[in-house]
Amino acid sequence: MLDDSVKQLLDRPHGLVLWLTGAGISAESGIPTFRGKEGYWRVGSRNYQPEEMATWSSFQEMPEEVWAWYLYRRGVCRGAEPNAAHRALVRAEQNSGERFLLVTQNVDGLHLRAGNTLDRTFQIHGNIDFMRCSKECLPAPIPMPDSIDVAWEKDRAITQRELERLRCPSCGAMGRPHVLWFDESYDEPNFRFQSSIEAARHASLVIVVGTTGATSLPMHIGTIASQRGVPMIVVNPEPNPFSALVQRTGHGSFLFGTAGDWVPKLVDALPLA
Ligand code: NAD
Repeated sequence: MLDDSVKQLLDRPHGLVLWLTGAGISAESGIPTFRGKEGYWRVGSRNYQPEEMATWSSFQEMPEEVWAWYLYRRGVCRGAEPNAAHRALVRAEQNSGERFLLVTQNVDGLHLRAGNTLDRTFQIHGNIDFMRCSKECLPAPIPMPDSIDVAWEKDRAITQRELERLRCPSCGAMGRPHVLWFDESYDEPNFRFQSSIEAARHASLVIVVGTTGATSLPMHIGTIASQRGVPMIVVNPEPNPFSALVQRTGHGSFLFGTAGDWVPKLVDALPLA
């Protein structure tokens, strides 16, 4: 049950409601977050952390291993289905139209598969079902080729033939997963950086679901909102930097628990546009 203070935050006229989601919203669809031990990837005799694999420098050093890791994760994402929280956010968009914006760190594409529109969904870390030219010659990401297997065993190596299929169709350079790596920077064309900042400057309510806030743009959004005195509702089974912000400013609320439990209730308590 939502308590009265949260109901009051929701049940009033709103401008833009900015939803910020992270890996936690897809945990109940069976996609591991980066924090659990499922996140490790073994290369030879060594276990790599996601923060080591998901880098441009690892891709340059061992492109076959980085591709195999992404193709395995892509298989996990494709095998997963949107859950109650994803579906509730589709209702939120249908109810609120242009007053709804979803900024997601997830690369799994589940928000779009559930039915949110690309116009109102900023995938600020990319989408694992797409690739780009590693020399950035293409104007936009392209879907992964159909000839690449979707189901991928955890320890399955990538073949030279498959690597050839992952080349840029325009210039022939090596293709790369369309994701933002830990040693890269946000930009507008690929990751909607400025548009996300702009949205944080205009939102009247920010709802943060299932993220640790370990990356810079999400924290930036939270900081801008709290400096503006905008209320923030945080859903997470663990305290995190966003819940600490709410505690410090006193604007908003921390809902301790899972996305599947809280998000549908939050959506239902928002007024229709
Ligand atoms: P994270 O793995 O760092 O943290 C996950 C957060 O979700 C934690 O705060 C955890 O307490 C919370 N959580 C766990 N289960 C939950 C549930 N059922 N309901 C609500 N919250 C729950 O993830 P992050 O903060 O999103 O960022 C790490 C990076 O990992 C991002 O760049 C993201 O692109 C990438 N990533 C994406 C996916 C995906 O696309 N599904 C999965 C793993 C990692």
